[in-house]
Amino acid sequence: MKISPNHPRFRSLETRERLVKGFQSGVVAPEGLIAHGRGEAFDYLFGEITPKSSRLATKAAVALLLGAKNPVISINGNTAALVSQDIVKLARSVPAGVEVNLFHRSIARERRIASLLKHNGADQVLGVNAKARVRIRGVASPRRSVDAKGIGDADVVLIPLEDGDRTEALRNAGKAVIAIDLNPMSRTSQAATVTIVDNIIRAIPELLRITLRMKPLSRSRLGAISSDFDNEKNLARVMKDMIGYMRGWA
Ligand code: ATP
Repeated sequence: MKISPNHPRFRSLETRERLVKGFQSGVVAPEGLIAHGRGEAFDYLFGEITPKSSRLATKAAVALLLGAKNPVISINGNTAALVSQDIVKLARSVPAGVEVNLFHRSIARERRIASLLKHNGADQVLGVNAKARVRIRGVASPRRSVDAKGIGDADVVLIPLEDGDRTEALRNAGKAVIAIDLNPMSRTSQAATVTIVDNIIRAIPELLRITLRMKPLSRSRLGAISSDFDNEKNLARVMKDMIGYMRGWA
């Protein structure tokens, strides 16, 4: 369906449309459509804008990515369908590896996502070579199996749209985890090193913009920015932003 840009809910409807197309082409899992619905509900509670508190998290996330030895961005179906192009640009500018990692895993879907990323300019996509896999301890889902050269060896992992179990397991494996999740109360948000509470359609372009701006900073400055960040405190600020917005309606 063609949606008019004048429609008051254009951005939201267009995003849904992209996910439906992604589902029809086998990139998005049916469960991904439901997960997006949960995200949309939280987005509404922030007035569908980036909460102020998320900007602090974005800076800390960029400091972690730029200061990392081997940063990797984990990609699932919804991320690929919504922000492939900007993810590839972000991976280039850090630079970071890109790895396909699915909860509802199938080889066909992994390949489709990899080819969508390549179509959008990615040179190398990890996670599609079954022989190169290692397991992360403490994860029951198929997401436990990761690329040895990618998430397996990463010190910093950016996980847009993740599940709580794996976030905890990646932390237990000694990795710094950056999550993007609209629900500040999810286990993922609570367990990550840095949580950006925002919609990925806004958060990834913003990460890219801030990365280009912070690239000239020294390692010690980057280290200071990331170690000054307190995720628990920031999530409390996010909750206050959400409550503040809802108070306006009450
Ligand atoms: P957890 O295990 O962390 O508690 P969950 O079970 O609540 O997670 P899932 O159903 O696995 O979560 O995944 C959906 C999560 O992704 C939700 O927290 C939802 O808010 C978030 N989400 C969905 N779409 C987006 C989006 N476009 N941008 C940011 N977050 C999103």
